[in-house]
Amino acid sequence: MSAGTTSYLNSRLLKLQVGYLLTEGPGFSREIPLQIPQRVHVAEDLYLESLSGHLTLTRTKEGILAQGTLQVQHGRECDRCLEEFVHGFALPVAELYASPADPEKSVFSVDSSGDIDLAPLLREEIIIEEGYRVICHDLCRGISSESGSNLNDEPETVEVDSHNLGSYAAIDPRLAILKQLLDQ
Ligand SMILES: [Zn+2]
Repeated sequence: MSAGTTSYLNSRLLKLQVGYLLTEGPGFSREIPLQIPQRVHVAEDLYLESLSGHLTLTRTKEGILAQGTLQVQHGRECDRCLEEFVHGFALPVAELYASPADPEKSVFSVDSSGDIDLAPLLREEIIIEEGYRVICHDLCRGISSESGSNLNDEPETVEVDSHNLGSYAAIDPRLAILKQLLDQ
């Protein structure tokens, strides 16, 4: 799953032609399906495993308003066990692409070819989303503070052995509470 070892689609796919909307009056809108079921290169430092959903593009006085919710699949590292996994999440989008370009109204704009480019918008939104702590699975057991090994790979019995909970406590505060209860 690392970058470069698998093929991917070009970020040009994320450009939408909206010239036909600009010729319409304010309020005119079109729903655009977005179906990219494969790995796509969004930005220098960002690949997505898939992207899907619908965007409603509305002509406004300022330009084109893009609104909708996209389903994103992004390969990233688990914050608890550090293994790579695919993080799937819904990404709400509501952004103005100014036409003509106007930095006071939006950092995004319709380009001279009549295209809007979703790539920089996706990159910005996904970096915000990915700033939150994410784990690969609700039951991810993390890394042993003693051996440094991935506890998800250890035998299941380790988890129910209360004597070993001390080593988990440094990693997961919820287990520290469990240990307190067991000690009482
Ligand atoms: Zn994990």
